[in-house]
Amino acid sequence: NSSSDCEEGSGRVRVAVRLRPKNAEDLISYSDFSDCVELQPELKRLKLRKNNWSSESYRFDEVFTETASQKRVYEVVAKPVVESVLNGYNGTVMAYGQTGTGKTYTLGRLGKDDASERGIMARALEDIFSSTSPAFDSVEVSYFQLYMESIQDMLAPEKINIPINEDPKTGEVSLPGASVVKVQDLDQFLQLLQIGEANRHASNTKLNTESSRSHAILMVYIQRSVHEKVEDGNTCQEKALRTTLSGRNAIPLMRKSKLLIVDLAGSERIDKSGSEGHLLEEAKFINLSLTSLGKCINALAENSPHIPLRDSKLTRLLRDSFGGSARTSLIITIGPSARHYAETTSSVMFGQRAI
Ligand code: ADP
Ligand code: MG
Repeated sequence: NSSSDCEEGSGRVRVAVRLRPKNAEDLISYSDFSDCVELQPELKRLKLRKNNWSSESYRFDEVFTETASQKRVYEVVAKPVVESVLNGYNGTVMAYGQTGTGKTYTLGRLGKDDASERGIMARALEDIFSSTSPAFDSVEVSYFQLYMESIQDMLAPEKINIPINEDPKTGEVSLPGASVVKVQDLDQFLQLLQIGEANRHASNTKLNTESSRSHAILMVYIQRSVHEKVEDGNTCQEKALRTTLSGRNAIPLMRKSKLLIVDLAGSERIDKSGSEGHLLEEAKFINLSLTSLGKCINALAENSPHIPLRDSKLTRLLRDSFGGSARTSLIITIGPSARHYAETTSSVMFGQRAI
């Protein structure tokens, strides 16, 4: 199989849970106990309390309490993925959870006034820009949303229904219709992300939907020229290139790798909003993509030879950045309140599928 050929990667998806601090709603008492979550970070364990008599315990690769800093979350969850991408492999960081539990805070926070608040996207780019070894030649980004199986460019929102291109030989996924913007430094990236967020907000207002109903995806392409003989290459991409370039193996070539950061649609169940008509359709698409993502995560954990990546656009987008030589991290965000026991349990169970 390809992962023995191309190291790095690792098989399964690594999963962390992050608990959001209490908000005003969580502080209003709900039943005879208000919190359903108890964390034991030193044991990497999470306990879910159903009532005063029963609780279940789950183990993860990491659990973050409500006091965990953005820096620490980045360093544990995302930094190894970013380093791997700088070394020429693809990688993915995703956040999954009920709306309001901190997915966007964890991934997309700009931290304009307070850099310590910056989320994973900003920190990843900061690390990439400060990397000298391995050094890069260029960094390019695309930012889009996937809503009801349709891809819209958030850097140029007039571009809708963008098709996914999958190279039949290399399996490489690209979006030929989406804007790819070269970024020179962190400030430029933060501005771009802010524009993307504003476009997303405007576009979703026009469509009369919530941002939480779509997946937001940041793609970061890192390119560097490899000057040594191609024979010395040891990544999948280089091997693929070596095959296609056989006979021309002394020329410098561009090595491209890709980092995906995915802010998934809210995982809350359909019937909660009592939806019908358009909302029901919307919910079905969210279900389709999250369910197929869960199946792929599961298949990877079970070392299954078949990862059903073709079942939804979300998983098709992940094809070259998930499993194999790619490194993948998933962060499950949850709130503390017993009010959301069912949703919290369902998010925790989703994360358990990887383990
Ligand atoms: P989601 O994207 O999952 O819907 P958000 O990231 O928008 O959730 O978070 C909901 C609210 O909770 C926001 O006001 C956010 O700033 C706050 N929040 C979430 N996680 C944290 C955290 N770890 N620390 C402080 N505030 C948080
Ligand atoms: Mg959000």
